[in-house]
Amino acid sequence: MRGVALAGSACAASALMAYAVRGRSSTLLAPSIYRGSRHRRSIALTFDDGPSEGTDQLLELLQRHGTPATFFVCGMNVKRLPAVTRATAAAGHEIGNHTYSHSRLYLRSRSFIAGELAAAQAVIAETGGTAPTLFRPPFGARWFGLREAQRQLNLLGVMWTVLGLDWKLPAAGVASRVLAGADNGGIICLHDGRGVSRNPDIRATLEAVGRLIPELQSRGFTFETVSQILCPNN
Ligand SMILES: [Zn+2]
Repeated sequence: MRGVALAGSACAASALMAYAVRGRSSTLLAPSIYRGSRHRRSIALTFDDGPSEGTDQLLELLQRHGTPATFFVCGMNVKRLPAVTRATAAAGHEIGNHTYSHSRLYLRSRSFIAGELAAAQAVIAETGGTAPTLFRPPFGARWFGLREAQRQLNLLGVMWTVLGLDWKLPAAGVASRVLAGADNGGIICLHDGRGVSRNPDIRATLEAVGRLIPELQSRGFTFETVSQILCPNN
């Protein structure tokens, strides 16, 4: 019996740990939000892993539809494509921190985590002109030390209500996942890069976004940045 009870508590502990690390509503390892106000019919599009060589096309698409978005960029990509980050900021989009090298933070040391966030924050502030206030962990994985690293830089963690899986699904699949999960205050996670790869293929993302914006507008949604959607009386 004792063995069963022990196995049971080990199982509960590992489930709790999995939730702490990956759970979208978890704030156990660092302050984090995953949705905005339910009182407005608004939605936030977010794009991770940029900037990439394909981001300009996404900026054009967003501009054509008058749609603001939030970009969680990697410091290494900003360093490679600073003009794209400047164009993103100049177009009025919000820029968040997505670490320097897109490394998994899970099981890493406190100093590694602090260094990843600080290096990204510095290059983004230098390039885009403003230090981010939002952070999204690569692979959605948090770890010990992230709370202190975020506090040091004044960053709030941002998860999502819908993960578009745009790195593996065709555009139609991405669009239908997002439309099925779209609701008031929703935060949609898509990608304008693929980690820190050069010349990533983001055609599925671009095509999905081109379909999604008019469809969401026809369902009565307006688009906000993450900071706007978090504001209760915007
Ligand atoms: Zn990422």
